[in-house]
Amino acid sequence: MRKIAIYGKGGIGKSTTTQNTVAGLSELGNKIMVVGCDPKADSTRLLLGGLAQNTVLDTLREEGEDVELDDIMRIGFNGVQCTESGGPEPGVGCAGRGIITSINLLEQLGAYSEDKDMDYVFYDVLGDVVCGGFAMPIREGKAEEIYIVVSGEMMAMYAANNICKGIVKFAESGGVKLGGLICNSRNVDFEKEMIEELAKKLGTQMIHFIPRDNVVQRAEINKKTVIEHEGENGQADEYRSLAKKIMENENFVVPSPIEIEELEELLIDYGLAG
Ligand code: ADP
Ligand code: MG
Repeated sequence: MRKIAIYGKGGIGKSTTTQNTVAGLSELGNKIMVVGCDPKADSTRLLLGGLAQNTVLDTLREEGEDVELDDIMRIGFNGVQCTESGGPEPGVGCAGRGIITSINLLEQLGAYSEDKDMDYVFYDVLGDVVCGGFAMPIREGKAEEIYIVVSGEMMAMYAANNICKGIVKFAESGGVKLGGLICNSRNVDFEKEMIEELAKKLGTQMIHFIPRDNVVQRAEINKKTVIEHEGENGQADEYRSLAKKIMENENFVVPSPIEIEELEELLIDYGLAG
């Protein structure tokens, strides 16, 4: 089973990209589990056709320790297994700790056991890794492969670089590697070139460039992935390509984060060119 975590700045498109890619992987016959690690609990909405009713933390609060796998796991599009960690009550407690609790509980309940015969688990993780809790999936070797969703916007690139710093920090203890940057386009000038260059500087690859397209919103309003909602659309094929590239990926590295000055230079170079 390949254990993959998707990181990136908030709002960059992690959940959308993860679910569409997972839908693509499921079409290729893979057995997949998605674990939402964001208190918003919207990492599986498109696969489930609506928000998950019971997050792990809610269920633990309501039912105590006596929880079964069926209470926290729902079957979504093409048999994808969906779980949401959820979060603490607003203003109380650490959301990062919720992720730890959830993954441990899933392990205890046998969600990852051999007989489940899973091909992939995807962790869709909130924000960058400044808080230790959110680094948990990579810190304790729960995830072995990371993809960072990024765009040509400065703060998205800044977050990607920070996440790389986190990966370096935990690569030794957890054995985690970076599999590439996924550029989720914001229609910035020279975006593809810039992210390819950033990837090169970080010692990795831009594994795929996903165009910005309103079909994503149309599908989202219908609570579906693009693949399920408009499978014939070119955007669906973009996600299928990314799925295939992830399946075939062999480029795994401990990244080399860059200095903020170098990042600024990169932006200026392409900004001036535009
Ligand atoms: P995150 O999980 O990183 O916080 P989301 O996946 O929730 O981000 O995406 C934020 C918003 O961006 C969503 O409303 C989604 O519809 C939109 N979005 C994501 N990717 C694309 C895209 N390629 N084209 C158009 N809209 C997109
Ligand atoms: Mg999200």
